[in-house]
Amino acid sequence: ASSSEEKDLVIIGGGVAGYVAAIKAGQEGMKVTCIEKRGMLGGTCLNVGCIPSKSLLNNSHLYHQILHDTKNRGIEVGDVKLNLKEMMKAKDTSVTGLTKGIEFLFKKNGVEYIKGTGTFASENEIKVALNEGGETSVKGKNILIATGSEATPFPGLEIDEKRVITSTGALALEKVPESMVVIGGGIIGLEMGSVWSRLGAKVTVVEFLNQIGGPGMDAEIAKSAQKLLKKQGMEFKLGTKVNSGDNSGDKIKLEVDSSKGGKPETLEADVVLVAIGRRPYTAGLGLENIGLEVDDRGRVVIDSEYRTKAAHIRCIGDCTFGPMLAHKAEEEAVAAVEYIKKGYGHVNYGVIPSVMYTHPEVAWVGQNEQELKSQNIPYKVGTFPFSANSRAKTNLDTEGMVKMLADPETDRLLGCHIIGPNAGEMIAEATLALEYGASTEDIARTCHAHPTLAEAFKEAAMATYSKAIHF
Ligand code: FAD
Ligand code: NAD
Repeated sequence: ASSSEEKDLVIIGGGVAGYVAAIKAGQEGMKVTCIEKRGMLGGTCLNVGCIPSKSLLNNSHLYHQILHDTKNRGIEVGDVKLNLKEMMKAKDTSVTGLTKGIEFLFKKNGVEYIKGTGTFASENEIKVALNEGGETSVKGKNILIATGSEATPFPGLEIDEKRVITSTGALALEKVPESMVVIGGGIIGLEMGSVWSRLGAKVTVVEFLNQIGGPGMDAEIAKSAQKLLKKQGMEFKLGTKVNSGDNSGDKIKLEVDSSKGGKPETLEADVVLVAIGRRPYTAGLGLENIGLEVDDRGRVVIDSEYRTKAAHIRCIGDCTFGPMLAHKAEEEAVAAVEYIKKGYGHVNYGVIPSVMYTHPEVAWVGQNEQELKSQNIPYKVGTFPFSANSRAKTNLDTEGMVKMLADPETDRLLGCHIIGPNAGEMIAEATLALEYGASTEDIARTCHAHPTLAEAFKEAAMATYSKAIHF
């Protein structure tokens, strides 16, 4: 079977990039089809990424807090037990609710949804191997590639998602392992490592670089995050590279080496989480059938308006350039549809926030200190610790600080780095300020409600050009 009608837009992939583009196109009155092979909409983010990980992070934090942080709040608890099966069920309920919600939004906005795997038959036609069996094909005036990414495997260690796991396995373990080694101290390693550490596993994170959190995280904040995560029981081996692994025995063995050339060491663990990054996923798409290029890292090559070599075929999200973040994919989705429909669109890549949902959370936007230094950009720093913030004190949650970087001449905000309670929500304020080109004085002269954590944000801004009142 094939649909004879040519669509205005055919989207391959129903992840955040694809589904947002589909809804936006529907809202713009375009005839749109979205092809997704997973059987569920929402892609990595909703099914095996952002959403299930945050469910486990939230509930494991609650469990950990009830175990370790109630007495001084005047709450006495009895026998606290983990019911992992129920915790996983709560996660699944959140995922199902949200993915079904997108199906509803598709119907509401007139988006045709085909469950199957799309392959380029020609520059205007996508052949679809249907999940339920059989084939169909769709033609589109415009085509959007939004096929996302997959975990980068570790050479020589076969992923079975039980003992050698990626984030997907880490979201579905059936029991708490005694020991877990995490290869890679990026965001996935720290978030999922936190979950299993809170639930009782002995977690060791091995990171090649000399800081956790990846290069975007401000080095001072990364150090502080490492200290706080260590206090919660996680171990770190920085400047250390995992060279090889062996999962033939009862325990998995990893050969690690100091990246600066120290003594090699063998680590043993019941479970190894491979979290060394993600790579674009374009397998089976048939890019070669129409001569579309990928770069040396497998990213689909596009121009500033998301166009591939064939101008009516665009690409957005994890399978092309830029940070692999859901909100980045979402921004691109709206912009790509606007380029098609109106001829203009906009994403400010300098103002994309990052959040690590550990406790405390770490969040940042704009440039960090090491980036400004390496570019010889002058800056001044204002900080404010949560230990001096009245709300953090009443919440007995005072670890961390807000750090602002501003232009010394104009006070224009250059970057904001937060480690502390609710950092992920607070960073929205910095993102808005940065997008609007605000100065730190603009921020500090804006009235903030009392008592809120956001007052720490205001006072850090004040500290860049004057003195904070409460510290
Ligand atoms: P994807 O979400 O990967 O979607 C692509 C979809 O295309 C998939 O569903 C796939 O099945 C489908 N597809 C592929 N090929 C075909 C084909 N040929 N035919 C039909 N369908 C196809 N980001 C954040 O911003 N915040 C977070 O908190 C966060 N947490 C994360 C936690 C984890 C554990 C992981 C792994 C990622 C997390 N991310 C987070 C990253 C986020 O999930 C991605 O950036 C986001 O999902 C990218 O969206 P996308 O639509 O480009 O790709
Ligand atoms: P990452 O690139 O952020 O981190 C991987 C880390 O592994 C790096 O720090 C790297 O130095 C290290 N590494 C690589 N090879 C190694 C080796 N052999 N030995 C030791 N260390 C090694 O990747 P990730 O954490 O896997 O995350 C993948 C993507 O998913 C990222 O783009 C991330 O932004 C996204 N994500 C985002 C969130 C969020 O926004 N909260 C959550 C999860 C994932």
